Amino acid sequence: MARYTEADCRLCRREKTKLFLKGDRCYGPKCALTRRNKTPGQHWDSRKKVTEYGLQLREKQKAKRIYGLQEKQFRKYYEMAERSRGVTGTNMLVMLEERLDNVIYRMGMGASRSQCRQMVNHGHITVNEKVVNIPSYQVSAGDVISVKENKRDLPSYVELKEMKASNLPKWLEFEPAKLTGKVLSKPTREDIDLSIQEHMIVELYSK
Ligand code: SF4
Repeated sequence: MARYTEADCRLCRREKTKLFLKGDRCYGPKCALTRRNKTPGQHWDSRKKVTEYGLQLREKQKAKRIYGLQEKQFRKYYEMAERSRGVTGTNMLVMLEERLDNVIYRMGMGASRSQCRQMVNHGHITVNEKVVNIPSYQVSAGDVISVKENKRDLPSYVELKEMKASNLPKWLEFEPAKLTGKVLSKPTREDIDLSIQEHMIVELYSK
């Protein structure tokens, strides 16, 4: 599968917003967007007129990059959301939010979604006491998510145990000392603190 291999920070500069792709660095003075808020490439900033299509495309790229997905994977979420009952854009964001890699990121188990994806890929995470190594696994209300017993002595998890849970969305709980969390409910749009205009993504795909 084709993967994006350039610097993550370049993506933030392209979208002119923080996508929080590099963990702690994103919150400090070393953030590339804080130091150099200029769109990469020579001519982007000089292009004055942005078409409606261009705006929709940027919104889709932003969401795709935040969740770290490729086009094909991202489009699948739109197609599933369209087939579900309710508002397509909201359905899509809720499904993205319910991905296992995103959920452990929201719980604070890792510093970035990509780090959390690796934790899942490497078999460090259990859901209801069974190892799940599929980052796109959709969690449900009531699921108990933990770090696998034999991985708990790894330095990053020992450090995590000493920390306090913070900035938890209200649909999740996490106890660092136990390296265990729980999905309390399905997230709502209000629980997803991302400045994404999802209706523009729907408009783009439904053309
Ligand atoms: Fe984006 Fe983080 Fe890089 Fe800042 S440090 S530009 S938020 S990836």
